[in-house]
Amino acid sequence: MFSPWIGNTITRHKHLYGIAKGNYFYTCGFSPMVIFDNHMHLQERGDFINAIQGFMKYGGTHLNFCPYTRVGAIAKEKSYMGCYEEGLKLAEYAMQKTGVTIFVTCGPYPVDYLKLRDIMGRKDAVALMKKGMEEAQHLCMEKKAIAIGEIGRPHFKVDEEAWRDSNEILEYGMVLAREADVPVVIHMEGATPTNMKELVEMARKAGLPKEKVIKHYSPPLIRPEENHGIFPSVIASESNIRESLKKGLRFMLETDYLDDVRRPGAVLALHTIPKKLQKLLQQEEITDDEMIVINKENPETVYGIALD
Ligand SMILES: [Zn+2]
Repeated sequence: MFSPWIGNTITRHKHLYGIAKGNYFYTCGFSPMVIFDNHMHLQERGDFINAIQGFMKYGGTHLNFCPYTRVGAIAKEKSYMGCYEEGLKLAEYAMQKTGVTIFVTCGPYPVDYLKLRDIMGRKDAVALMKKGMEEAQHLCMEKKAIAIGEIGRPHFKVDEEAWRDSNEILEYGMVLAREADVPVVIHMEGATPTNMKELVEMARKAGLPKEKVIKHYSPPLIRPEENHGIFPSVIASESNIRESLKKGLRFMLETDYLDDVRRPGAVLALHTIPKKLQKLLQQEEITDDEMIVINKENPETVYGIALD
């Protein structure tokens, strides 16, 4: 996909040529190093192609894209499939336009529950969220999506009923993920060792291996006693990356890029991961081998995909 004569890609030069780290303008004809953003959003009316080109400019190669859900349309259609399919189309278009590789993760966004409950009442809202899980599972089974997410519970305080229903919907999603042998990507309140342990218990009940539970928007909870086996997808601020590296290599990085023109560069700009890793490579704070674990081997293991 990458022309070997295009610069701007991080190549595995260290092992091949012993060339100084950090210089990524290599044209040796070998495959570029994989640089993966594990959670981000795109919108046709956002910065979209431009943002992806920014990611690629710094050496980014692979994205895990999570399509937005539109509650109005979902309530009307009584289905999430329309939104998921729109996301798949958007990914396809962006791949053709840019040459980047885009995987899709889809699922009923936890905050939708509150809006759907207002529109159609509790019972129907729960049923529709569960149907959204089934539709996401279907796309995973068809290999059009790689995970069910972001699912979970609202990240802010909600009433008792919403909390219980959200947990029930999440558990259902975990059961479906186990059946499809794919991970879940979790959206919830801020991660702590305590609620990570709670997630492990939920996954155990659902029969889903805890390694297949990815905490999106995670702080650097890298040590086993911090995440209890849940897989952290760390928000890629420089301080988070540094702290994560000090603790181990069992994590992925994400920007949670929103692609919202009213909030440019939020949560982090899409070019953040390749740009920061490039800088850390130059400063010899990360090695090529560590880069490969975080960007390639970890996602390959967790999702059961190949990143080339
Ligand atoms: Zn997100």
